[in-house]
Amino acid sequence: DCNSDLALRVYSSRLLGQEPKLVIHGGGNTSVKTKFQVFGQTTDVLCVKGSGWDLGQIEPAGLPAVKINPLKDLIKLKELSDEDMVNTQRANLLDSSAPNPSVETLLHAFLPHKFIDHTHSDAILTLCNQPNGDEICKDIFGNQLVYVPYIMPGFALAKQSKICFDQATETAGSEPIGMLLLKHGLVSFGETAKEAYTRMIDLVTMAENKIDQLRKGRLPQAKTTSNVATASDVAPILRGLLSRTNPNDSGKYQRLILEYRTNPKINKYVGGKELKKYSQKGTVTPDHVIRIKPKPLILSTPQIDKLDAWETEAKEQIQSYIFEYKQYFNRNNQSFGNSKTALDPTPRIILIPGLGLFATGANSKSAKIAGDLGEVNAQVITNAQEIGSFECISEKEIFEIEHWSLEQAKLGKARVKPLERQVAVITGAGSGIGKATAQAFAAEGAEVVMLDIVVGPAQELAKKIGGTALHCDVTDKKSIAKALAKTCELYGGIDVLVSNAGAAWEGEIGTVSPEKLQASFELNFWSHQLMAQASVKIMRRQRTGGCLLFNTSKQAVNPGRNFGPYGLPKATTLFLMKQYALDHGKDGIRSNAVNADRIRSGLLTDKFITSRAAARGIDKEKYMSNNLLKEEVVGSDVANAFVYLAKATKTSAAVLTVDGGNIEASLR
Ligand code: ZN
Repeated sequence: DCNSDLALRVYSSRLLGQEPKLVIHGGGNTSVKTKFQVFGQTTDVLCVKGSGWDLGQIEPAGLPAVKINPLKDLIKLKELSDEDMVNTQRANLLDSSAPNPSVETLLHAFLPHKFIDHTHSDAILTLCNQPNGDEICKDIFGNQLVYVPYIMPGFALAKQSKICFDQATETAGSEPIGMLLLKHGLVSFGETAKEAYTRMIDLVTMAENKIDQLRKGRLPQAKTTSNVATASDVAPILRGLLSRTNPNDSGKYQRLILEYRTNPKINKYVGGKELKKYSQKGTVTPDHVIRIKPKPLILSTPQIDKLDAWETEAKEQIQSYIFEYKQYFNRNNQSFGNSKTALDPTPRIILIPGLGLFATGANSKSAKIAGDLGEVNAQVITNAQEIGSFECISEKEIFEIEHWSLEQAKLGKARVKPLERQVAVITGAGSGIGKATAQAFAAEGAEVVMLDIVVGPAQELAKKIGGTALHCDVTDKKSIAKALAKTCELYGGIDVLVSNAGAAWEGEIGTVSPEKLQASFELNFWSHQLMAQASVKIMRRQRTGGCLLFNTSKQAVNPGRNFGPYGLPKATTLFLMKQYALDHGKDGIRSNAVNADRIRSGLLTDKFITSRAAARGIDKEKYMSNNLLKEEVVGSDVANAFVYLAKATKTSAAVLTVDGGNIEASLR
């Protein structure tokens, strides 16, 4: 029973929000002025985008209703603090549990139009972020638009917008159809949702056409380097450097998640001759700065045979980035009476000519958002350079918005989960113990990469729990290399390996064929060695330690009758675990195993259970719960053991038994 104005507002907001050239990641906002019934009384309200909602997926609840008359009255004030603004907006919400109305609510409230749309259109930003941006725009749009010089969002911008609107209406004699917030974005007005939307699209199309007219040529490119290292080789080095250069309170390192991006547009931007000039001026619209900081870090092109030298140089560049960022904070904080809170100084965007762009974040979600904004900035700045020269708001203005409490509030304060900032690779993740383990690691905040030889079920799982599913044959070195390279591109490296994939072979040891024993060794021993070796190589590049976890079996310590083909390689894997603990403890890499027994899975099928129960001379039910506790052990029990070991930072070379209790298989 949604108000029809609001329904239309939702519909056209989604249209705007689903066009990335207009709006991405919570950017832009929309409103409608309508009437709601409150306890039988008709009340004038403004339904305006709520903080934390994306226009592309917005619902009526994402456009909270605020009583408009008390908001309109605020224009009489000379100034209004942020706290008082937010409080007044919240105090006038019809639903006290609604999200905070947008920081641009007052701009919507002060202007008279029924429907108002606001976007940070790429084309508009390309034009107004020029030294003579206002002239160019006035030339295109004339008195169709009201022009508002840059002011930080909030009360002052809202009030100035209304003043400019009134002046423009008076002098032009005709009503403008929209407003240009210089170096920020575009606003369109309408009596209907359709009118405001159509005007937005028409204005943006005019801007796009103007860019085509003004384009002088392709962004001049620097000389290219040959022998460029791959992103998957570079990512763990870079991730390690960034994590170690900005340690957390414990003083060791603070891991980041990295995401690699490349395409012809990114490459043109990072390959530009003047990259060091145009990339260091600031973001294309103010609110991007909270996600990507004012400046990206630029690193030189890494060559495949000179990665050590590149690492040394990159380390210095990261250190000086952090040093300069802190100086930037101190320098500008003085102008605000030292009232601002310092933010994490590590770069969010890293540009590498010849390679592309790396985005960073505390988790893959924030790295992805930074990557998307980094790409938009690359695109807009390239276009701005191709028609003239990119120019944005001043350092002080950028600083003010970056450290504005209302902008920082947009980032939210999610509870930090124990395995956040860690990348866990799980083999055999499509079913059974592997699936339960992927779920358990995701629930603890880890980025999960699910490998399986049959990728379908792992992909289904990824849809539910996030993370990435990749095809991998763990007995094939090339297949492993490919899957881990992709992992490095998507997340920056590896912190935890859960080497879980396995399968069971039966046979009497005196008569079993060498082929059968060999096949079991391929999967139940060699795959663990290949996965662990490839993972350790990446962990050593990061130099932030790591954790290897092996799924061994009760068979490794207590052989079952006619189960040698399975037990022998598992026993070897148990010693493999110890060897990694011994040889790579110096690298901060821990190595542990879980000894599980009798878990229903793709490996332990009903048919197999019947066969094993017969081998022990008992029935199926008894076989499954034939342990000291008389309780069946399930996949999630084993998954929880892997999670525990991943967190047990002082434990290495240990075997954790998850079998309901079995004296014959117990370790001493
Ligand atoms: Zn805006």
